[in-house]
Amino acid sequence: VRGIVAAAAYLPGRSPDRVGVRAPDEDGFTMAVEALERLLEGVPPPARELPLQVVGDLDPVPPEGFSPLLGSPVGLLRAPGGGAGLREAVIAAAARDGPEVILAVSSRPAGPVTAAHAPRDAAAAILLGDRADGSVFSPETGRPPGATALEEAVGWYRAVPEALHPSWLGDWDAALRAGAGWAAGSSDPSPPARVAEGAYWPRPTYQEGLPSRWRLTAERCTHCQRTSFPSRGQCRGCGRRDALTPVRLDRRGGRVIALTWIGPGGQPTEFDPQVEGTGGYGVAIVEVAPGTFGTFQLADVVRGEVSLGDPVRTSLRRLYAQEGAWRYGRKASPLRPGDGRRS
Ligand SMILES: [Zn+2]
Repeated sequence: VRGIVAAAAYLPGRSPDRVGVRAPDEDGFTMAVEALERLLEGVPPPARELPLQVVGDLDPVPPEGFSPLLGSPVGLLRAPGGGAGLREAVIAAAARDGPEVILAVSSRPAGPVTAAHAPRDAAAAILLGDRADGSVFSPETGRPPGATALEEAVGWYRAVPEALHPSWLGDWDAALRAGAGWAAGSSDPSPPARVAEGAYWPRPTYQEGLPSRWRLTAERCTHCQRTSFPSRGQCRGCGRRDALTPVRLDRRGGRVIALTWIGPGGQPTEFDPQVEGTGGYGVAIVEVAPGTFGTFQLADVVRGEVSLGDPVRTSLRRLYAQEGAWRYGRKASPLRPGDGRRS
């Protein structure tokens, strides 16, 4: 029987007064990526390329799509938004073969959050595949009237043994309470037209770096055993180009080695709009694997909240806009209780 075999969700926002509200550098795409990464941590990698079905308008999906994140081609299907669209997407996926992921995002319209305009940013990722027990949603088993795909996912989540859970930070009940808020859609503003002249990065150069920037892919040298990050096709230890094996680093396995805070005026010009909008930001050198280091902007922190030696995780966030599109990369944030570091 084909049905939901795994589900994960992401509700942004940490402090009590901004639960469910995305950070300025989060959008529908980054929230979907977060849910997708949590989902895929709990399941074995698919044997072939993974189709993704996006419920509603996950605006903006960058031109690069999801492929750099998964490291394989991704077929992208679009389904209508809202709870009805999500249910239709599950039914359609259940009729097809092979594993398939459905992504749905609820995105608050831009603007101030008021009581009447309750925050409800959230993202869900649902994996469909073959299930032997037939205990969860499938067209064949028939479902109680009114059951929604998300409720099925919740039921699955609560029923399976703890060890099988995709890592989980969010609150399914809150996601369900959001109700109609699960209508997908986003009014994210278009990227600013201004071009950063101080650090112009041609799109092809940016795209070449995406395996490292998005997936935390490094290169391990089989000659001298050194791991180089970000990947650049040459070992930083011995200089060889012919002994490199790609390895994916643990996105929750970092530790802060050095830390600085960039105040207004100190930022590269491509970050001018960010600084004008939200002020200065932190930058950390992170030991991403033993003896391997990367530089990351900090996300979801205020000055003083991160210290040397702190464990951090990384997540995909907006960096800046260039050539008419948002560019994305990983930023580091403190590893908090519930982040579920896997060893
Ligand atoms: Zn080497």
